[in-house]
Amino acid sequence: MTTVELPGLDVAERIDRLRALFGSGEAGEAPGAGIDAHFVTRLVNIRYLTGFTGSAALLLVGPDEVLFVTDGRYKDQSADQLAAAGVEARIEISGTEQKRIVHDAAQATGYGRVGLEAHGVTWSQQRGFATEWFPSAELVPTEGLIEGLRRVKDAGEVARIRAACGIADTAFANVAGRLADRPTELEFGLELEFEMRRLGASGMSFEPIVAAGPNGAKPHARPSDRRIERGELLVLDFGCIVDGYCSDMTRTVSVGDPGPEARRMYDVVLESQKAGRDAVRQGVEASAVDKACRDVIAEAGWADAFLHGTGHGVGLEIHEDPRVSATGRGTLAAGYVVTVEPGVYLTGIGGVRIEDTLVVTPDGSDILTASPKDLVL
Ligand code: ZN
Ligand code: ZN
Repeated sequence: MTTVELPGLDVAERIDRLRALFGSGEAGEAPGAGIDAHFVTRLVNIRYLTGFTGSAALLLVGPDEVLFVTDGRYKDQSADQLAAAGVEARIEISGTEQKRIVHDAAQATGYGRVGLEAHGVTWSQQRGFATEWFPSAELVPTEGLIEGLRRVKDAGEVARIRAACGIADTAFANVAGRLADRPTELEFGLELEFEMRRLGASGMSFEPIVAAGPNGAKPHARPSDRRIERGELLVLDFGCIVDGYCSDMTRTVSVGDPGPEARRMYDVVLESQKAGRDAVRQGVEASAVDKACRDVIAEAGWADAFLHGTGHGVGLEIHEDPRVSATGRGTLAAGYVVTVEPGVYLTGIGGVRIEDTLVVTPDGSDILTASPKDLVL
């Protein structure tokens, strides 16, 4: 079990950063979402804004006040976690009266326009919110407002992602030798998972991908009972969670020499991945990082075999903003944490993918995933 000292998170100021995006754009104000308040229902966003880690909560953020609603299971936990994070909110505990509590708060403050997370609310919820929860307000869909704030990680967030990456690195080093015993994909996935948990991970970022031989041609293959044989390309994509924050890494290996075609695939993807990493820095278009990777693979004649985008943000969620792809909009900023993970997939033969998680800096990036990139074990 690894004990890691983690610095604190800057949670307390996040609600003010959200409020700064409310603006109507009138009277010299910066253009914003045009809302008076935001009703937050996505739990991951509530966690980000308040430090609350439970499984049920609602958050109404007004210009001067914050209402936090949860049920009796989280009475003590919510008070403890919001206090520890330095978040000042009126906390209401109710299993059955949540609608009335939110309704009354919104009526009392007279919010005219209330934001709802466009990607976090179902059609039926929206209808209920409009007619019963906020009958006097105009509901405004917001697109990635809080997710946009989450792109830049503070030092405490980077430390958690770094710790999760470190656990994944150590776990891989500890169990890689067992590949010589021809485990099945499922068995080796379990070894990786057990080792990451033994080293202190609270969970997996996602079910590990362990894809040997032809299975590796499917970028998101699920582990099967197929044995991992000598001389096969083996794609391993895995990550774990530390205090809510995810890691993500892919390595492709082979027990023994996989042959000239596989080695060529590996060399091309390795060069592509390095070109992508070298392109990452503050101010660069996300799409330029994708192009740096894609150009190397296209040059080798495998443009059509790179079946996915180059990368994604990593944080409280394994896939978050920004998207690093041909269509990814916007530029990278210092403090973003992104992956670079080009791959080549040849049906019937197998796949190669190499992925690191990086934190963007003013002059480049820091690589958080440190496992060696040797093809042959
Ligand atoms: Zn991955
Ligand atoms: Zn990834």
